[in-house]
This record gives sequence, structure tokens and C-alpha cells, in this order.
Amino acid sequence: MVKPLDEHERTLAFAEIALGQIKSLRQTAIPRNYEIWYVYATGYNAALNKIINETLARNGKLTESDLEQIYDTYLSQLKASERIDKVGARVIGEIDDVMKLITEALGMSSNYGATLDGASSKLASVQTKEQLKPIVELLVKSTREMRETNKVLEERLTLSKGEIHELQHSLEAIRAESLTDPLTGLGNRKYFDRSIEVAVQEALESGEPLSLLMFDIDHFKSFNDSYGHLTGDQVLRLVGLSLKQTIKGQDITARYGGEEFAVVLPNTGLRQALTVADHIRRAIMAKELKKKSTGEILGRVTISVGVSMLKAGDDTDSLIERADACLYAAKRNGRNRVICEVDPEYAAEVQGSHTQVA
Ligand code: GH3
Ligand code: MG
Ligand code: MG
Repeated sequence: MVKPLDEHERTLAFAEIALGQIKSLRQTAIPRNYEIWYVYATGYNAALNKIINETLARNGKLTESDLEQIYDTYLSQLKASERIDKVGARVIGEIDDVMKLITEALGMSSNYGATLDGASSKLASVQTKEQLKPIVELLVKSTREMRETNKVLEERLTLSKGEIHELQHSLEAIRAESLTDPLTGLGNRKYFDRSIEVAVQEALESGEPLSLLMFDIDHFKSFNDSYGHLTGDQVLRLVGLSLKQTIKGQDITARYGGEEFAVVLPNTGLRQALTVADHIRRAIMAKELKKKSTGEILGRVTISVGVSMLKAGDDTDSLIERADACLYAAKRNGRNRVICEVDPEYAAEVQGSHTQVA
């Protein structure tokens, strides 16, 4: 049997891969580059690995400025707002440079125009070959200069195009990050709030069905208490992963709160939504949890799911409220199950909560 690697061995293996990359790509072994390659070796930051692989495939190498950009975009602890400021400043700097260049080029171009005009009027009165020579020489000289200016402008604009492309990439990464839950890589609450609003609006307009699943991990507190918060976080990651593997296409997945998740299913009626919900429930339950560092078996986690479907007169809040009430009914009726709003358990739940209020 293969003995599981302990934390010490695992981190050393990552460190060796990182140093190997630095050596083979002949990069400076400064902490920043080491951190980039260490994270690359762990594979935890998919976006970082993707941009590195793409850049290497395109250019065959990573320049210092590529590395700096990658670090700033994917690893730096700077707050999103500071990073936006930084990118913003670079955009303004780039625009300034290009504007200066264009102004210079315009000046050159109008000088050239004046030279041409001058030459053309002088040509009209040329009598001898000797008189022609200086005019032609001047024309050749200023044409050469103009060509040179155009070349510089073209090169500079090409550089600028690359730079702006990179900046677009950085801005896109910041935007995506602001809508992503860092632990699971799923959409965060902000992403959910925005997406469900749009999806509900579209469904109401088109008349297509739309369903919502809300689910919550069962007895997660006791799991955390027994195995620690870090292991709890691994479980949340695993749930996120199972969800990504089960859900496809247009469906919207998000971490709604602590250990609560939501899935919006556009163009999906209640019956189909129940199938999806049960699929997710089974996929999560099927995974046996193992502590990475020790190989210790921690058992399985289960989830309870509530399912609601959009109906006439609904808005986002009422749809969420019903899914949430179904989820609560699933908890009260034994957990590890899916309850939807046509189930008797839901009716009892709603009745119960009314009684409580009264
Ligand atoms: P139930 O089956 O009724 O849902 O029981 P529960 O223990 O899952 O529910 P409860 O709401 O009492 O506890 C939720 C727990 O989830 C509290 C906390 O320990 C855990 N939790 C919430 N967010 C996180 C997180 O980001 N990381 C970790 N590790 N645990 C979290
Ligand atoms: Mg829970
Ligand atoms: Mg909860």
C-alpha cells in the first residue's frame, strides 16, 4: 500500500518543482517568482496555472514583466480596490504616452505637408538640373524622416496594444475575483444575487420555467468541532467541486453563505429540478472524506436540499423564501433529503411557521 505523504514531504515536493521551474526557465530565484511557481505546483490556483500555461504556449517564456503582472493579478494580497487603482493608473499612463506620440506624429505630418507644398511651388519655376537637385534631396530627406516617424509610431502602437490587452486581462481577473468565493471557486453571494435577479426576470418575460435549489451541509458544526476548521474548509471545497462536476451549462451555482449553497436552474421545471437536486445529494454523499495529511478516514457528509419553482406573481425573494422553507423542512424531517414545495412536509412547515407567528 502506498503510504500517504505527510505535510512535510508534500510541501518539499512542491518546493522542488518550484525550484526546478525557476532553474529550467532561467528565472531569478527571488521570493516572488518562487511563490508563483510554488502555487503553480500545488495546482490550487487554477487561474494562475491557466495564464502561465497560455503565456508559455504563446511566447515560450515568462519575462520579468509577465511574472510581475501574474503576481499582481493572481497572488498579491493587495485589495481589489488598490489593484483597480493600479491598473487604472497604468491605463492612464498608457493613454498619455500614446497621446504624446500621436501629437508628435501629427506635428511631423503637418511639417511634411508644408515641405511638399513648398517643393511643389518651387518645382513650378525650376529651369535647370542644378535647381532640381536640392528640391529632390529635400523631398527624399523629409520622406525618409516621415517614414521613420511612422515606423516608430507603428512599433509603439503595437506595444501599446499588447499592454492594453494585458490590462484588460487584469481588469477581467479583478472583476471575476470580486464575484468568486475564494474557498470553493464558486460564485459568491454577490454573484448569486445578481445572477438570480437576471434569470428570474428573463424567465418571467419568456414564460420559461425556472427552479431554485438551496442546500445546506448536515451537522456541519459537529464535523468542524471534531476535525477542525481547516478540514471543514476542505469539505466545503469538496462540496464545491462535486457541485461543479454535477452542474452544467447555463445553471448558476454559488456559495450562498457559510455552508449553504444555491443553484439556479433556468429552463427547468420542478420534476427535472428534483432530479438534479438528488443527483447533487448523491454525488456529495458518495465521496468518502480522507484527511490529506494523515490519510485518516473521516466518513461522509450529507446535505439537505430545498427546491422551489418560479410561479406567476413571484419575485426573487419569494422564490428564495420557498426554497429556504423547503430546506428547513428537509432538515426537520431527518436531513439528507430533497424537499420541494409540493411535498406535504413543506405544507406542514409553512403551517408550522404560521402557527409559530400567531
Ligand atoms: P444542520 O444539519 O442543522 O445544518 O446543522 P449544522 O451543524 O450544519 O448547522 P449550524 O447552522 O448549526 O452550523 C453551521 C456550521 O457551519 C457553523 C460552522 O461551524 C460551519 N461553517 C460555516 N461557514 C464555515 C466556513 O467557511 N468554514 C468552515 N470550516 N466551517 C464553516
Ligand atoms: Mg448545516
Ligand atoms: Mg447552515
